[in-house]
Amino acid sequence: MPGVERRMTRQVKVRNVLIGGGAPISVQSMTKTDTRDREATLAQVLRLTEAGCDIVRLAIPDEDAARSLAWIRKHTDAALVADIHFDYRLGLLAIESGADKIRVNPGNIPQRGLKELAAACRANGVPVRVGVNSGSIAREILSRHGGLTVAALVESALQGVRLVEDAGVTDIVISLKATDPLMTIQAYREISNLTDRPLHLGLTESGAPRSGTVRSAVTLGVLLAGGIGDTIRVSLTGDPVEEVRVGLAILRSLGLREGGVEIISCPTCGRCSIGLDRLAGIASEVERGVSGIRAPLKIAIMGCEVNGPGEAREADVGLAVGRGRGLLFVRGKPVRQVDEKEFVKAILDEVRRIVPPEEG
Ligand code: SF4
Repeated sequence: MPGVERRMTRQVKVRNVLIGGGAPISVQSMTKTDTRDREATLAQVLRLTEAGCDIVRLAIPDEDAARSLAWIRKHTDAALVADIHFDYRLGLLAIESGADKIRVNPGNIPQRGLKELAAACRANGVPVRVGVNSGSIAREILSRHGGLTVAALVESALQGVRLVEDAGVTDIVISLKATDPLMTIQAYREISNLTDRPLHLGLTESGAPRSGTVRSAVTLGVLLAGGIGDTIRVSLTGDPVEEVRVGLAILRSLGLREGGVEIISCPTCGRCSIGLDRLAGIASEVERGVSGIRAPLKIAIMGCEVNGPGEAREADVGLAVGRGRGLLFVRGKPVRQVDEKEFVKAILDEVRRIVPPEEG
C-alpha cells in the first residue's frame, strides 16, 4: 500500500512532543471547562490524554486562569498550550506557570509586548503557534483582498509569523483556519509552498459532532494525504474527547498513526438477524470498552454468518452474528459460539486476553 509522502518542515518541541521534521503527526484538543475551575479542567486534561491526546490547549483569559494553569501543571505531565489573546502579560504568566507552548494571534498584541513574550519563550524553550482564523483577519488585509480570500488568510498568517520572528521567536508553528473546507485546504496548500514552518491543521468552528467530523475528515484528510500537516485538531461542538477520537481515526485511516483499536462493523442488510440498531449498539459498547487501548488491534463485528466470517477471520477478534448466537473468532480461528447477550463481554474478554490492562 502506498504511504503518504510528508513534506519536510522544521521541528519544534512542545514538552515531550515533537512537531514537524518528520515527527509523528500529533493530535491536539482544547479544554472546554472554565480554566479557573482548576479541578474540572485538570479532570478534562486527564480524560483527553487518556484518550490519546498529545497536546492540550487551555484558554487563559485572565490571571486567575494562569494561576490555575500553574496548579494543573503540578498534576499532569501533559504538553500544555496556553491560548492568549490581547494581553501579552498573560502569556508571560502562563510561561511562568509552566505552559509548554503559547498560541497567539500576533496581530492583536503590541510589538513591545511581543518582544517581551518572545524573550520569555526563548529563555524557556517555549514555541509559539501563530494562529490565524478567518474571523480575525486585520481589516486592512481584508480590504486589500476585497474580503475573505485564501490570499488574505495566507498573508495574515505570514504577517503574523514575521511579527513574532522580528520579536525574536525562533520556534514557530502556523495555523490558518477557515470555516470553509475548500478555503482551508487551499490556504494550507499555498502556505506550505511558502514556508517550511510546521503546520497545525484544523477547521475553525467545524460544527456539531456529525457534520464537524465529516467536514474535518474531508479537509484534514485531503491535506494529510497530500503530505501537508504536522499536528491536527478536530474542533467539534461537543465532548473534546470525541475530537481526539476523530483526529486519531483520521490519522489511522491514512496510515499516519499506528496503534489503537480499529473497529470494523458491517452496515447490516436483510441477512442480519439482530437488526441494525442492535448491531450498532454492540459496536458502540465495544468502542467504549476499548477506548483506552493504545496497542494496535482490529475488531470485526459482522451481522451474519454468510459474509461475516470472512471479515471476522481477518481481525484479531471477530464476531459473525447468527440467529440468537454468534461465532467468535480470535486471530483467524473460530473459538466458540456465544449467546447474544454475551456478545460485548465475549469480545472485550478476548481483547483483554490479547492486550492485558497493564499493557493497554
Ligand atoms: S456481513 Fe452479512 S449482514 Fe452484514 S452487510 Fe454483509 S451480508 Fe449483510
